[in-house]
Amino acid sequence: MPLQQVTILGATGSIGVSTLDVIQRHPDRFSVFALSSHSRVEKLYHQILTFEPKYAVVATPQQAQKLQAQVASQGCQTQILAGPEGLVAVASASEVDQVMAAIVGAAGLLPTLAAAQAGKRVLLANKESLVSAGKLFMDAVRDNGAELLPIDSEHNAIFQCLPAQWQAKQRGPLFSKGVSKILLTGSGGPFRETPIAELANKTPAQAVAHPNWSMGQKISVDSATMMNKGLEFIEACRLFDAKPEQIEVVIHPQSVIHSMVQYSDGSVLAQLGQPDMRTPIAHAMMFPERGQSGVEPLNFADIAKLEFLPPDFNRYPCLRLAIEACQQDQESCTLLNAANEVSVARFLAGQIGFTDIAAVNGEVMATGTDIRITVLDDVLAIDQHGRALAEQFCAQR
Ligand code: NDP
Ligand code: MG
Repeated sequence: MPLQQVTILGATGSIGVSTLDVIQRHPDRFSVFALSSHSRVEKLYHQILTFEPKYAVVATPQQAQKLQAQVASQGCQTQILAGPEGLVAVASASEVDQVMAAIVGAAGLLPTLAAAQAGKRVLLANKESLVSAGKLFMDAVRDNGAELLPIDSEHNAIFQCLPAQWQAKQRGPLFSKGVSKILLTGSGGPFRETPIAELANKTPAQAVAHPNWSMGQKISVDSATMMNKGLEFIEACRLFDAKPEQIEVVIHPQSVIHSMVQYSDGSVLAQLGQPDMRTPIAHAMMFPERGQSGVEPLNFADIAKLEFLPPDFNRYPCLRLAIEACQQDQESCTLLNAANEVSVARFLAGQIGFTDIAAVNGEVMATGTDIRITVLDDVLAIDQHGRALAEQFCAQR
């Protein structure tokens, strides 16, 4: 069988590195076509020398020129491209079979969309692009015969628990196939038991110290506010064509069960595993087959107990905002995602406090937008509007 050619958007990040780890275990299946970075060019340089991709993409033409000279001096043929055009080119190139969408934030939207429009197998880690573009993104997948496989551990777990005929076609009315509910689990993050009055003083270092998962900074903060679960709630509605009332968020502090699907006969199917993203990555890359991921199986003798609790919206106001946005309309989801990217960045930069994230997001949502989404430019306009509002509200704190 010819090798599957893989582009990794966001290769230098947490998901990117885990994807390369899985690829390295399967030299007979995968070949790296392209890698991309944004600020960590040195890390990309080392990845290029190891994987010798056909292309690599950096943020600016200046970075590209410098890196091109460096790799050429090592006898490496990799061609270096720059900027959003470079990302779109490597996501949609005709030679590419699979695109790992692992850029963080709405910055990943255009290349991820380009991969869908080019009919690729899209391995979706970048939930913000789906939250932001919603139906437009799902339409691009369907209209161009792309295959969308979720990498987010919860959505990958849900996918694994769905009926085989739905998995094969990835479309159709899921909830008429006997599915009655999606149970979306989340650990509750590092502050699950912190007195609510103490949350305002939590630092970025404390917020990114997730108890179970090792991830990039933005998603780690989103896990502490549970905005991550909120974005995942919206992501699940879009991916599985579900209504908000068909999804229930369950706090499960041990992160052993990655999500569940409840059927009308009373059965509940769950996917279990270590909190290691190489499992969903390997699943999606090799679907419908299975192969090594490097992850050890669970040792049930070590698991003393599994707990399940309802979420406390007073502790996690961002989760409430996201569920409300999902119940309202796509415009609200796009706006909230944009506001949250800014408020989290400002928190990580030490400019606002932890509880200001939810406050700023709430102020942006209360202001709202008059723009209605019919084409992609409307999504981008709401994204810009949400960012500008959030910057303004952050500056007032
Ligand atoms: P990281 O912060 O570790 O990595 C982000 C990647 O995106 C890096 O390669 C980074 O480049 C690149 N990047 C950042 N900004 C830009 C930009 N403006 N333009 C182009 N590239 C950019 O994040 P994660 O790997 O943790 O997460 C990636 C995505 O996957 C997110 O959407 C997240 O929600 C999702 N996800 C992550 C999980 C995890 O376990 N980490 C689990 C489930 C979903 P550089 O490093 O060179 O600056
Ligand atoms: Mg997740």
